[in-house]
Amino acid sequence: MKHPDKENGSKPDLSIIPPLQDILNHSSIPASGIDIKYIKIIADRHIEKFRSLLLRQEYSGKPNRSFLLEEIVQSCLREIKDLTGNHLNRVINGTGIILHTNLGRAPLAPAASQHIAEVTENYCNLEFDLESGRRGERNTVVEDIICLITGAGDAVVVNNNAAAVLLVLNSLCRRKEVPVSRGELVEIGGSFRMPEVMKAGMVKMVEVGTTNKTHLKDYEDALTARTGGILKVHTSNYRVMGFTASVSLDDLVNLAGRHQVPLIYDMGSGVIEGIEQWGYPHEPVAREYVEAGVDIITFSADKVLGGAQAGIIIGKEKFIRTIKNNHLLRALRCDKLTYAALDATLRLYLDPGALPENLPVVAMMRISISELRNRGNDMINKLKGLPLRMEVKDTFSQMGSGALPLEKIPSMAVEFMPIGMSVNNFSRKLRHATPAIVGYIERDTYLLNLRTIRADEIPLIVESIRKIWNS
Ligand SMILES: *Cc1c(COP(=O)(O)O)cnc(C)c1O
Repeated sequence: MKHPDKENGSKPDLSIIPPLQDILNHSSIPASGIDIKYIKIIADRHIEKFRSLLLRQEYSGKPNRSFLLEEIVQSCLREIKDLTGNHLNRVINGTGIILHTNLGRAPLAPAASQHIAEVTENYCNLEFDLESGRRGERNTVVEDIICLITGAGDAVVVNNNAAAVLLVLNSLCRRKEVPVSRGELVEIGGSFRMPEVMKAGMVKMVEVGTTNKTHLKDYEDALTARTGGILKVHTSNYRVMGFTASVSLDDLVNLAGRHQVPLIYDMGSGVIEGIEQWGYPHEPVAREYVEAGVDIITFSADKVLGGAQAGIIIGKEKFIRTIKNNHLLRALRCDKLTYAALDATLRLYLDPGALPENLPVVAMMRISISELRNRGNDMINKLKGLPLRMEVKDTFSQMGSGALPLEKIPSMAVEFMPIGMSVNNFSRKLRHATPAIVGYIERDTYLLNLRTIRADEIPLIVESIRKIWNS
């Protein structure tokens, strides 16, 4: 925005720019809560910003020194305020997507976050064997429980499932050929693409079959003396439908066995407990793959499993031993926060009947439509009197993160139509609330999907919406 009387091409008056010391001496700067050495860096930047505004004749404030000083100070204080607050913030998820990768996937169980605090605010036995008093191995913290709940011979944990696939391929198939079906060359959220992961793992991908059909014979024809393993990938975020064929895991187990190469299955989301008990269609659990004889299985710990970001590798002992001896593991290993979260989350699986109470992901999967409707009506009642049209509506939720991609989970949403305010503005104000509220806009209405909103979050939403008009 140009100041009207500056359009005549006259030179800007740079002498009104205050020296750094004037900013540092300003009464509100010392109270800003950060060290003077950082304030100097910030103040220099903001002086520079206003200098270039003046030079470009884009400074729109009053052209005098005291006014400009005040503007620069306020500009510095805004940056300092932003710096001294948290940048990773709590969000209320009104999207209805249970495992929303952009919103941090699975919220942790209270048992897990408490265990993280307990373990990380103190020292812990991350790599110390309390039995013998000698150096221990971090992975032992979760090995036994993973083996118990999946039936696997051994297990190892890394940073995420992408790292798990990379490590498995690099450990077992390095410089060898790995056949994989053309129908399973998945891309997960842009950064995980199977062909690239295979290249990074230093294996030679051998594509077999076609996009819609792959037969056992295609794999048989691809097997040579240079084959290092067979890879099967769960088509997590899509389905090949119509005229299709893929090879069953049983057939692949037999084939891999006959050729004495490992069969590797990237399972994607880690389903440990049958989800049919919560009213969903059958999705095979990890144990079924172990029992079918798959040599190595990988899955994420922060998808359906409901834990922290990690990749879990389970399988036959001799293969896991080779994987544990790969030096790459050092670069992919998890830290103590992750182990603490997994330790506590996996333990919840020892009592599957109590998972709906103890594990947020399962609680959200299982909550009934009538309960969601009650919460929606409750929210609307508490917001009566505001210039808002509201309605509780039938809608759907999704699992998210490539789990159960075709499953439309019935849900309820509260629909908002603000009066005298655009839905975009309403949405923006809620994103800027504390905690931030993230919903979505559909046909010029704003929606909060209730399946991913906890009962104790309803009063927070009510308060934030009231504040839009009452402050
Ligand atoms: C999600 C997924 C991945 C990537 O897992 P991250 O834990 O996000 O690294 C890889 N493969 C499949 C089949 C997946 O579903």
